Amino acid sequence: MTATTDTTAARTGERTSPAVARPEIMPERSSVFDRVLVAVFVAVPLLALIAAVPLAWGWGLGWHDVVLAIAFYYISGLGVSVGLHRYFTHGSFKAVRGFKIALALAGSLAIEKPVITWVADHRRHHKYSDKEGDPHSPWRFGSDAKALAKGLAYAHIGWMFDGDITSEEKFCPDWLADPDISAISRWFPALVTTSLLAPALIGGLWSMSWAGALTAFFWATLVRIAFLHHITWSINSICHTFGRKEFEVRDKSRNVSWLAILSFGESWHNLHHADPTCARHGVLKGQIDIAARTIWLAEKLGWAYAVRWPEAARLTGKQTGEARKLGAMTRRETARPTG
Ligand SMILES: [Zn+2]
Ligand SMILES: [Zn+2]
Repeated sequence: MTATTDTTAARTGERTSPAVARPEIMPERSSVFDRVLVAVFVAVPLLALIAAVPLAWGWGLGWHDVVLAIAFYYISGLGVSVGLHRYFTHGSFKAVRGFKIALALAGSLAIEKPVITWVADHRRHHKYSDKEGDPHSPWRFGSDAKALAKGLAYAHIGWMFDGDITSEEKFCPDWLADPDISAISRWFPALVTTSLLAPALIGGLWSMSWAGALTAFFWATLVRIAFLHHITWSINSICHTFGRKEFEVRDKSRNVSWLAILSFGESWHNLHHADPTCARHGVLKGQIDIAARTIWLAEKLGWAYAVRWPEAARLTGKQTGEARKLGAMTRRETARPTG
């Protein structure tokens, strides 16, 4: 197995000081206007896209394209959520070699960054979340409406153009030392090409037509990748600005329910910052977490082991406000009586 034990601090992003209550006013109470603004910017292009589906049906969109788009969305999206994020960055479970390689390949198909670069950036995000040094905090320009609007755009997209390169030697020595993963990271251009062309190839062969290749390329490559990118980026922008603070954190991470299904559970981001190595992010009852269910399935199949499922004793102590019931897959046997 791979050496992932010596970078615990980097993985978890834990700081040494205890939690301190922040005096700032929480944004979700004061900025309905901003919330509406973001919703408009995110929702309008997506709604326009959804509206285009019935218009395009039978004329540039067929069920082959829908099947391919959803299949590639799931493979690359779970590659990011289960692979790049929960496994490679945070070590929330251990994986057999074949599953490790499959996760690295699937995550690369999202066309975000090579595995090791992605992990290094994200570990830096946890180490400095919403402070100086965080690669993509929406709060970097200040907290008034204008600064926050600028910060949201920066956290969503702008940070990728700032020219900063996170040190892989410092933040990702474990995977740099893994020959499988450093090779897959180097193959990134080939995997990008695969992700771009595979839907067109399958779509063309499936329908035995050039038109089928073209429509599959539009829906299962272009639309699928654009959509997945916006969902991933929304975790950095929206989930650090709006939503519910259900667990104690020292940053601005929030739980955002309406993004849960499309993000495979990544939008339960407040819990994730409260307990970064936990394999399940949607820990409260009713919080759907498709990535956690996938890890659960991989554990049953023997591909994943030593899974860090949520622990009732640890989480109830971190909950804010009135306690809500913890969901399935929570370890309860170690729970201490509360009261
Ligand atoms: Zn994380
Ligand atoms: Zn975050």
